[in-house]
Amino acid sequence: MDKLAEFAVTEKNSRGRRLAEPAPQGRGEFQRDRDRIIHSGAFRRLEYKTQVFVNHEGDLFRTRLTHSIEVSQIARSIARRLRLNEDLAEAISLAHDLGHTPFGHAGQDALNACMKSFGGFEHNLQSLRVVDVLEERYARFDGLNLCFETREGILKHCSAENAAALGDVGERFLRNQRPSLEAQIANVADEIAYNNHDVDDGLRSGLITLDQLSEVPLVAVHLQQIRGQYPALSERRIVHETIRHMINTLVGDVIRSSEDNIRKHRITSLAEVRTAPPILAFSEEMFKQQRVLKNFLRTHLYRHYKVMRMSSKAQRIISELFAVFMEDSRLLPPQFQAHADADRARAVADYIAGMTDRYAIREHRRIFAVEEVPLSF
Ligand code: MG
Repeated sequence: MDKLAEFAVTEKNSRGRRLAEPAPQGRGEFQRDRDRIIHSGAFRRLEYKTQVFVNHEGDLFRTRLTHSIEVSQIARSIARRLRLNEDLAEAISLAHDLGHTPFGHAGQDALNACMKSFGGFEHNLQSLRVVDVLEERYARFDGLNLCFETREGILKHCSAENAAALGDVGERFLRNQRPSLEAQIANVADEIAYNNHDVDDGLRSGLITLDQLSEVPLVAVHLQQIRGQYPALSERRIVHETIRHMINTLVGDVIRSSEDNIRKHRITSLAEVRTAPPILAFSEEMFKQQRVLKNFLRTHLYRHYKVMRMSSKAQRIISELFAVFMEDSRLLPPQFQAHADADRARAVADYIAGMTDRYAIREHRRIFAVEEVPLSF
């Protein structure tokens, strides 16, 4: 790796791990974080969790796993170009959605509603809880004992109340400070990834069309150019070329405008990154164009009646599971029963949040189905 910028996170300026460990051999501290995340159970479960389309709806749609991999690819490209810590940006990206419930945002909203009088449920906070507490793999500690900067990057937003309870990673929310540029990159990369792959998945599903998308300037400009350049190209290739160009444009824009911000705010250290305004950002023009695309997706894809029907089913599954476990914690698997004695609602939320889409559907059937369910099911 080329020499890192003076404002990058390094092992030297890192605040380290909560529990000190011997230095890793043959890899860096942030590579070790990435490796721990990849080997976690929560990471593998991302494969069967909804991004927009429920996992069984089609094999080619993004899942939380492929989404996280795309986020990490984009984040690494940006980090490298800005001479920032690529390993850290990768680790944060791969972990950013670990706390997501099954069934995407519908699942999170349902669980949050169930948890209303028990401190609420927020997937971002849950991602941190997964890496800090819930993974049970190490002899000496709960969670993955990740570096401060990785944990800080995972916690994208947080209420003042939660921040106060979280200690070190919560501090910046109370002081109105920014996280590292690597964390800011993971955040922007998330946005670039989902806006683009939701266009792709939306088109593949047939819920939105290229004609409709021509109203969106960010799409239209590339679409026209590619159609002009390759008049006989098949529709699928036109879609891929358009998305490829869009990602490139957004990544290029964010790099240029972040470089401008670094110069404008004379950033020369990690400490200055924390007190400066957000540095990683689109140019004003691109920000506006992104917003038009986001609004388009909200209206035409996320609120499409077919997506809403699935969301409504998902919400019912989550709230019915929550209610039944709250009523009788003896229905929980033994490892969650132990935690339920201390805080039943949180143990139930942890159990439900960890489920994959198909596990939640099966668990719901196992508990509620009156017709005969095979014993092995
Ligand atoms: Mg995400």
